[in-house]
Amino acid sequence: MYMDRNLASASPTPEPIDETPLYAAHRTLYPQSVKGTYRTIKWVVLVATLAIYYLLPFVRFDRGPNAPHQAVLIDLPGRRFYFFFIEIWPQEVYYLTGLLILAAVILFLMNAVAGRVWCGYLCPQTVWTDLFYAIERLVEGDRREHMLRDQAPWSIDKVSRKAIKHFLWLMVAWWTGGAWVLYFADAPTLVKDLATGQAPFIAYAWIGILTFTTYTLAGHMREQVCLYMCPWPRIQAALTDEHALNVTYRYDRGEPRGSVKKNAQLRAQGLPAGDCVDCLQCVNVCPTGVDIRDGASLGCIQCGLCIDACDAVMEKVGHPTRLIAYDTDLNVRRRLEHKPTSIHIVRARTLVYAAIIAIVGAIMLTTLATRASVGVNLMHDRNPMFVRLSDGAIRNAYTVRILNKQTDPRRFAFAVEGIAGATVDIVGIPTPPDGDLAIEVGPDQTREFRVLVTARQPPKEETSPITFTVVDRNTGEAARAFDHFFAP
Ligand code: SF4
Ligand code: SF4
Repeated sequence: MYMDRNLASASPTPEPIDETPLYAAHRTLYPQSVKGTYRTIKWVVLVATLAIYYLLPFVRFDRGPNAPHQAVLIDLPGRRFYFFFIEIWPQEVYYLTGLLILAAVILFLMNAVAGRVWCGYLCPQTVWTDLFYAIERLVEGDRREHMLRDQAPWSIDKVSRKAIKHFLWLMVAWWTGGAWVLYFADAPTLVKDLATGQAPFIAYAWIGILTFTTYTLAGHMREQVCLYMCPWPRIQAALTDEHALNVTYRYDRGEPRGSVKKNAQLRAQGLPAGDCVDCLQCVNVCPTGVDIRDGASLGCIQCGLCIDACDAVMEKVGHPTRLIAYDTDLNVRRRLEHKPTSIHIVRARTLVYAAIIAIVGAIMLTTLATRASVGVNLMHDRNPMFVRLSDGAIRNAYTVRILNKQTDPRRFAFAVEGIAGATVDIVGIPTPPDGDLAIEVGPDQTREFRVLVTARQPPKEETSPITFTVVDRNTGEAARAFDHFFAP
């Protein structure tokens, strides 16, 4: 918090001091409803994000006859992740690494431009808490009504309203858990199985766990999660700089604060008076109970609701709006020093983040666009590395896996190169007289087999490079894997 905000003490510049305690007793908050630009943005984001989360499992995507038609599916038994036209195999987990890097750097960029904009608008904890507050207000009334009811003795009305609220919270939490499991199986089928009691136990278990966590985190813990559990505010504080736009109380304009009457009297006497009328509306609407006039704090999730509340007050008392606004403390200090203010969205930090996003995104797009639909994995037997046969020949054994990433069955030619005169046997697949080995692999499947490479005249070196090649008989698309042939 800032230690002193009075104009008289504006110089030297106040330094931010984080006074957030490690633990504080829970206090019930009654955030008041508010209307305005940022509230509208939050409603739009809330509806859009929840609609995506709840409805996405039901979106269909045609991948051909031999692949699932669910647009987004985490197929754990089949070990695939489907996202519309993208299909990620376990061997391609680097795509997920790329996505994680992208997500992290996008978060850093958002932070560099507009502080905790993620926390205020997009974080699931914020979105669900907002929804739970909306339900609470619907059932128990707005701030004042709710506070009065909580202070009143228990009555049928009070009990029934609380029961209805918790029932609705549990319904939302239950549907949240239910939507989550739909990402792991064909959604319409799983809904039917869940309803008829035929779904696997693990699905019911996960719904139960997520119902409990959603109900607890969004209904009861609320701002406690942001204040004491989430690491992002601490990381964000270390990553931000003085040019990031944050919800800021413009104390150069607001102080000295005072009631409308008191400040009018001060002005009449030619004394300094700020625009803040000390109405506490900004505090009353805050979902984390923060007084933004105390300055930057880890408790502020930068939701902008105090801007809407203060704007309404400013309009009422006839002062210009945006006493609280997205601004920088640097600008506030510069105004106090009668210097011009500036907003620096394009600066070295944001350019670096944007460049990283562009580079990682381009690499991922290129690798996706040029992604091979056939692959071959290879593992040499470790113990023993080779065996000597009774006729003196040396044999090495390998486990080979061919990956067919297309949704049609394919037939692959299989060849081994590098060891002159070696014979190749596939366990379970007879070698044709012409030695032209071909292997069928089903649609969107892998096939694993053991390969024995036998050299009647072993190479003189202890290790010789060896290449395994698979070629699609129809398209000619090929994949190679490299290893070694070991000899005494
Ligand atoms: S202080 Fe303002 S921006 Fe920060 S959490 Fe509270 S209402 Fe949101
Ligand atoms: S809402 Fe505006 S005028 Fe009222 S206390 Fe907050 S900053 Fe001051």
